[in-house]
Amino acid sequence: MRTPVIAGNWKMYKTLAESVDFVRELAPRLAPFTNVERVVCPTFVALAAVGAELKRTDHTDIHVGAQSVHWEAQGAFTSQISPTMLQGIAEYVIIGHSECRAYLGETDEQVNKKVKAALKHGLKPIVAVGESLQQNEAGETATFVGGQVRAALVDVSADEMANVIIAYEPIWAIGTGRSADGATANNIIGGTIRATLAELYGSDVAQSVRIQYGGSVKPDNMAEYMSQPDIDGALVGGASLKVNDFVALVEIAAREKGTQGA
Ligand code: PEP
Repeated sequence: MRTPVIAGNWKMYKTLAESVDFVRELAPRLAPFTNVERVVCPTFVALAAVGAELKRTDHTDIHVGAQSVHWEAQGAFTSQISPTMLQGIAEYVIIGHSECRAYLGETDEQVNKKVKAALKHGLKPIVAVGESLQQNEAGETATFVGGQVRAALVDVSADEMANVIIAYEPIWAIGTGRSADGATANNIIGGTIRATLAELYGSDVAQSVRIQYGGSVKPDNMAEYMSQPDIDGALVGGASLKVNDFVALVEIAAREKGTQGA
């Protein structure tokens, strides 16, 4: 049984003070839904303070994730944050988000290096993959997304896959208000991503890895995704910036597919 996981990607929103205020309001409202894993991913500068606030208020079952990481433990990489710097302040890290791929030039090879570095240093990667509108319309989704999954996981072992989450996020659905319908998303997640994992690691691992959907997930379309058998939660941008929406998403996930003891 895969525990559903809802992760809020706050992108470059919320100052340090706003992040702490937000999580102070959010955490007690997410607390009842222990059958869903709940993750908040603030900006780097707010990570430690958000984690401290969760600890102070005894909400340590809300997990903290970073939005990226460098692959080196240290070095002359101005502006970058290393996996050792995240140890102790983040448990998860989003890697390969389409905004990093598009605006920061993150390549499949770098994504793979980041995934391996994160795992080596005890961080759990949320690996984002997804096709462009052009690729989607050309019927290339399965080939492209399958290729991204393979590239991200080069030299990642079957045992390490226990700590990896994959997020299927069609680029054309991120922040646009357009979203893939539930059955289509489930088809890519089950028929392409899980099938690729089965080829790489065998069916037991493929069945155990959690795969999220992401792309304009909102309270009013959440049930459509959570009712799908292969979708194990959501990576959420815009709607995770509002307390009521974040709570509603987790509540729907708990109702549709929560397991015990996340
Ligand atoms: C995201 O940032 O990963 C995302 C899916 O954003 P949104 O929910 O706003 O589409």
